[in-house]
Amino acid sequence: MQCRVCDATELEPVLDLGNQPWCNHFLRPEEVGSEPFYPLRVVYCHRCATAQLDHTVKKEVMFGDHTYLSGVTRSLSDHFRTVADEVNQRIGNRLSSKSVLDIGSNDGTQLKHFQSLGYDVLGVESSKTTANIANEAGVPTVNEFFNLETSKTISRKFDVINAAGVFFHLEELHSVTEGIRESLSHEGIFVVQFLYMKRIIENLAFDQIYHEHLLYYNLKNIEALLNRHGLAMFDAYLSPIHGGSMIGFVTHQDVRPSTDRLNDLLKQEDSSRCNDIITYRNFSRRVDQMKQRDLAYLDSAKTAGKKIFGMGAPVKGNTLLNYFGIGKNYLECLVEKNRLRKGLVSPGMHLPVVMEDELSTPPDVYYVLAWNFKKEILANNKPLLDRGTEFYFPVDAGAA
Ligand SMILES: [Zn+2]
Repeated sequence: MQCRVCDATELEPVLDLGNQPWCNHFLRPEEVGSEPFYPLRVVYCHRCATAQLDHTVKKEVMFGDHTYLSGVTRSLSDHFRTVADEVNQRIGNRLSSKSVLDIGSNDGTQLKHFQSLGYDVLGVESSKTTANIANEAGVPTVNEFFNLETSKTISRKFDVINAAGVFFHLEELHSVTEGIRESLSHEGIFVVQFLYMKRIIENLAFDQIYHEHLLYYNLKNIEALLNRHGLAMFDAYLSPIHGGSMIGFVTHQDVRPSTDRLNDLLKQEDSSRCNDIITYRNFSRRVDQMKQRDLAYLDSAKTAGKKIFGMGAPVKGNTLLNYFGIGKNYLECLVEKNRLRKGLVSPGMHLPVVMEDELSTPPDVYYVLAWNFKKEILANNKPLLDRGTEFYFPVDAGAA
């Protein structure tokens, strides 16, 4: 295969998570056991240093009808408001009318914040269910995959283009990036929000690796991709969302100078060696150590007769459960708030999803799959903590 970013063929396998089911598809009871499995393996490009999956599950399989809703958690909604405010300050009041296009706009949570700032908004969302939810909530949303063709069909320029958490799972990477350049006004700002690979490595958050995430970016390699299409990042900051996300501000090349904070972040990448192959080789070894540690913990809790539930049924949790082999041998169920997952079963390990408000007795231990909401989870479960329920965080990204 060729590198998805630079076309080089010097790719080295660095982390093999085996065959895994498509982790965003929670199963209806009648589907249990018939879910397909696909290779989940990370390779590293020796030319541009981009980590990426070497197997592509078709986008129509993955994004036709996903059930992830942005609006479900408060901290995510707060984050989207911050992003809207940040970008609005940059666009300033020089424009009498302001417009924004959101790619992968989900249920419209991000666009609602732009609407309240007076923007004319348009969402593009590939999941039909989710696009309907957005339209019903008054956020105009086209049910399509965004790419160069979609951009031509929409046929207008936007002052702001936003892409939160979609830029790393683009099968049509170059067509999408071209589409963004086409749709961005001359002085417009493209806000790209992506999981930051440097943080994934530092936190050992390998569960962020799943089939939808074809690419794992640091600033150095996303910059290479943008430059290839006449775009350039001029500013960025690290947000705690999803355990460490980069919020990058991009414009047409040579329109705005780089900020000091972007230059500092690039220097930190160099000194941490997060773009070096050696770091990726170590990553694989560290993941296996984590597996031994977690299984030892769960074994001892089980031996002590403790009742263990999973906290949250996030998509990424399935990577972890399947790779570690954590199913009914350890956990009774996954406790979740997202009602779209009610009555479903986790792919691969077949753990039933139970709604938090329907739980009759709490467990002795929560194995927290939704670890990125640590602060929120600990704050919401004060009474359980007081009565001695343990919350075990397999990944600790700090109080994000
Ligand atoms: Zn490459």
